[in-house]
Amino acid sequence: MPKPEESPEDGSLLGDMPGSELRPAARAVADWISDYLDDVGSYPVLARVRPGEIRGELPLRMPHEGEPFQDILRDFQTLLMPGVTHWNHPAFFAYFSITGSGPGVLGEMLAAALNVNGMLWRACPVATELEEVALAWLRDLLGLPPEFDGTINDTASSSSLYALAAAREAKLPEARTRGLGGMPRGRFYASEQAHSSIDKAVITLGFGMDGIRKIPTDQEFRMLPAELRRAVLEDLEAGVRPLAVVATLGTTSTTSVDPVEAVAGIAREFELWLHVDAAYGGAAAAIPELRPLLSGWEKADSIVVNPHKWLFTPIDCSVLYVRDPERLRRAFSLTPEYLRTPEEGETRNLMDYGVALGRRFRSLKLWFVLRYFGARGIRERIRQHVAMARELAAWMDEAPEWEVVAPVPFSTVVFRFVPAGTSPEDQDRLNGEIMDRVNETGEMFISHTVLKGRFCLRMAIGNLRTRREHLSRAWELLQEAARG
Ligand SMILES: *Cc1c(COP(=O)(O)O)cnc(C)c1O
Repeated sequence: MPKPEESPEDGSLLGDMPGSELRPAARAVADWISDYLDDVGSYPVLARVRPGEIRGELPLRMPHEGEPFQDILRDFQTLLMPGVTHWNHPAFFAYFSITGSGPGVLGEMLAAALNVNGMLWRACPVATELEEVALAWLRDLLGLPPEFDGTINDTASSSSLYALAAAREAKLPEARTRGLGGMPRGRFYASEQAHSSIDKAVITLGFGMDGIRKIPTDQEFRMLPAELRRAVLEDLEAGVRPLAVVATLGTTSTTSVDPVEAVAGIAREFELWLHVDAAYGGAAAAIPELRPLLSGWEKADSIVVNPHKWLFTPIDCSVLYVRDPERLRRAFSLTPEYLRTPEEGETRNLMDYGVALGRRFRSLKLWFVLRYFGARGIRERIRQHVAMARELAAWMDEAPEWEVVAPVPFSTVVFRFVPAGTSPEDQDRLNGEIMDRVNETGEMFISHTVLKGRFCLRMAIGNLRTRREHLSRAWELLQEAARG
């Protein structure tokens, strides 16, 4: 049996870090952050560690006695930093390139200091009201009509889950009380290029993998509306209940854009809920000349846009816009007595719009970002990313051994090295080797996708520090790797 511990009389083991310690520590952290963001381009983009390596550097057990903050910060720098893949690096082109911008980081710091839980309006009025204001600003920036009302979630995966839960609530309201047993089988539709979060949502909602039907796409990876219509008719014939369709504006693999206008027509014809997944592509609506790409999305019942993807807001911040927030509320509201407040009716409680009770004050960082850059600043930055992607695609188009394999509507280029006289299988292997080789340089990081069974490389541009020189260096490295 361990000996009972004595509590020291002086209270030195009580309370928070004193202000006299916090202030210099906070300054050290602020300095570190500024230096880091200035120099982030000098780190190897992709962490150079093996699985388990970081864990092996750290003590197995927590310390018995508290440790000085300088020691913790030092170990962060020396032991943890090697395990960081630098998403803020200007040559991070993998997945979707993002930015935790300066104003966003500062908003995040202040939100942590306030540490509010915005579950109810009264639990922190500004958390509810600033979310409304910031999301109305964002809605206007994206040119969405004022009927759309937004809430912030952690990720698009949660936002789409909630949207499809609202669809179930609208189309099968009895399911809320009785569950799905005894209900007609329900069906959701999305293109074969839709994000896996849609499948996850359908599975989580209890419809099973059979609950989602993948609609074929055309040569440019866009959902074929005629195929959607055929699938819906076939399901109706078979006694399956069509519930909702998901159109993706900017798919994850190629950033293809489903013909949302035509999909909306079919949704209207069969009374399906229309959910638009614009987690990445939605940001492009800020630019008038790109907005036509998304035209028709304003007919959706729900739309997800991730400010943490292409709107310079630190992870996590995903916005779910719904045409009628009451329909979302009906899916989730379940207020226990201890959470009833006199303000009900006059305002809303964020806990009613999703699974989580607690809500971080995420709107603060978004509001900082929107104010600091302004509409014009955001537009110019996104425009620049799109221009850089087009330039990269043009270089590849001109190189005979390289092929851009999908249109480039936004800021992502999907391509393949296709030297003459090689089989498609050889090319798959070569492209895999090129990817590994350029990623090993530490100078850039790209990822891949598989299209029509073929291994393709993918470069997404979306970081505020990315300049043309990073792009031309990346192109050089790719060509060098291909020659090797
Ligand atoms: C990134 C992405 C998602 C998933 O986003 P999370 O916020 O990571 O859940 C969903 N759909 C599309 C189209 C995406 O690009």
